Amino acid sequence: MEKISIIVPCYNEEESIELFYDETLKVLKKMEKIEYEFVFVDDGSKDRTLEIFRKLHKKDKQVKYISFSRNFGKEAAMLAGFDRSSGDYVTTMDVDLQDPPELLLDMYHDIKNEDYDCVATRSKSRKNYSFLRKILTKCFYKIINKMSDVEIVDGARDFRLMKRKMVDSILSMREVNRFTKGIFGYVGFKTKWIEYEDRDRVAGSSKWSLLKLGRYAIDGIIAFSTKPLLYSVFIGLFFCFLAFVFILFIIVRTLIYSDPVQGWPSLVCILLFVSGIQLFCTGIIGVYLSKIYLETKKRPIYIVNETEE
Ligand code: UDP
Ligand code: MG
Repeated sequence: MEKISIIVPCYNEEESIELFYDETLKVLKKMEKIEYEFVFVDDGSKDRTLEIFRKLHKKDKQVKYISFSRNFGKEAAMLAGFDRSSGDYVTTMDVDLQDPPELLLDMYHDIKNEDYDCVATRSKSRKNYSFLRKILTKCFYKIINKMSDVEIVDGARDFRLMKRKMVDSILSMREVNRFTKGIFGYVGFKTKWIEYEDRDRVAGSSKWSLLKLGRYAIDGIIAFSTKPLLYSVFIGLFFCFLAFVFILFIIVRTLIYSDPVQGWPSLVCILLFVSGIQLFCTGIIGVYLSKIYLETKKRPIYIVNETEE
């Protein structure tokens, strides 16, 4: 019999977990001829999240769980879930029920009967995002798709049902600086997209602050594009050209007017501006360097504190 694995990263989600489990189980029971397993991942929660996992495992042996030694982030939690999953089909879902479990029925139907390796979801309108988050997110997708060769679909959720072969290829990418939305695009495979209207959280609150999102966006760009480095080369070339034009201008002016010494304020402005640009470009190199530094250390992406075994 085939099996579906449901990976659920949780960070301080004590209010949502049981609601999620009940709702999703109802849907799984409707699916015919398929076994299931839940892989709950406790991403270093400080509330009763782990206790609830233990309780669920007592009740249902198909509930597996992993608890991290501290908060490693959703990307690490998803990876841990993939590592642990054993199903022929694998999906990741948010525990807050913003990923509607009933969609699983359609997704499973499509992946089974049509020639797809993955059925992915994207939100239609992001209606539960704040105005600022909506605008910044739109900009982010525009920028990253301009810069990266890998397609990163605007509005794509992490909620997607994948065949084992796709999960295995995701698992073969052990980079520390993980940006799973890009990794999905990078591994490719035939993907069907389903759209749905955003829902509100069933309980609790979003774990993302704007600052955290900003950092995540920069990490994503660095992980899937080296264009910023190229842009800094062009900026440098442009300023060389500007300097050349300026030199010509000064030589000609001196020849015509035999210019007395002048222009200290403009010199200071130019100096400050150009050194600013230099620092900016060095900064870009620095950001890449820091990522290389972290990758070469080969630290574990997550550390497990407890599992149901
Ligand atoms: N999450 C996690 N680790 C984190 C932040 C979030 O495992 O550091 C989980 C969280 O518990 C939830 C999912 O990732 O199940 C999505 O988080 P959230 O609902 O806060 O994000 P949003 O829906 O606002 O994008
Ligand atoms: Mg959510």
